[in-house]
Amino acid sequence: MGSPGTSEASLNGDGVSLDLERKRRLVAAVAQSVIERTEELTALDAAIGDGDHGANMKRGFEAVLQDLEALAAMSLTDLLKGVGTRLVMKVGGASGPLYGTFFLALAKELPEAPSRPVAISALGAAIAAVKARGKSDVGQKTMLDVLTPAFEAFASGGGPATVKEAAEAAAKRTIPMRATRGRASFLGERSIGHMDPGARSSSLMIGAICDEFGA
Ligand code: ADP
Ligand code: MG
Repeated sequence: MGSPGTSEASLNGDGVSLDLERKRRLVAAVAQSVIERTEELTALDAAIGDGDHGANMKRGFEAVLQDLEALAAMSLTDLLKGVGTRLVMKVGGASGPLYGTFFLALAKELPEAPSRPVAISALGAAIAAVKARGKSDVGQKTMLDVLTPAFEAFASGGGPATVKEAAEAAAKRTIPMRATRGRASFLGERSIGHMDPGARSSSLMIGAICDEFGA
């Protein structure tokens, strides 16, 4: 409460529902956060992968931006489903199906006006779905090493600034890690010393959402 935009959000049942303008701003902010950093994501993936993460994410989120008005006018469920489907179809690589899974799981779990406890349980389920899809867990130098600690910061009561900081710190903590999942795991010890590209894209998207909520 008290963050920009919440005043125009309408209360509906047990939580806060986002109006069209708020949905548009959130989706645009998430999309821009990765599109603006295409080159950085490419460079990170060039160091420990195949250098396509920036282009993959840009392609996916450009497809989202193309339909921004239609998506913003949808229910939260359909909006999240729409984003997830576009990411699965357009991003490709390992990250497309994984980010797609995240948004599709959230679509299934989040009601139109989620309370904080409901949002926590939905986000937990979405992270569990990513783990199942990727046969992966925290500690393997992937996006999960940002998604999980940021989620934990939110679940333990952290506000937008705290969650954003947790995500950024977690992305940095992937630098000394050795990858045991994804393409970077082929490098073994040589994956050490670089930030994981998926961890970085996760921290960018989380940061953008937190900024929209007043971080
Ligand atoms: P690809 O590796 O197929 O080229 P991208 O470059 O788009 O796909 O995405 C790479 C990112 O995907 C990694 O940096 C990592 O964060 C994430 N990733 C890869 N495999 C997994 C997995 N099994 N579980 C979770 N995240 C993964
Ligand atoms: Mg790649």
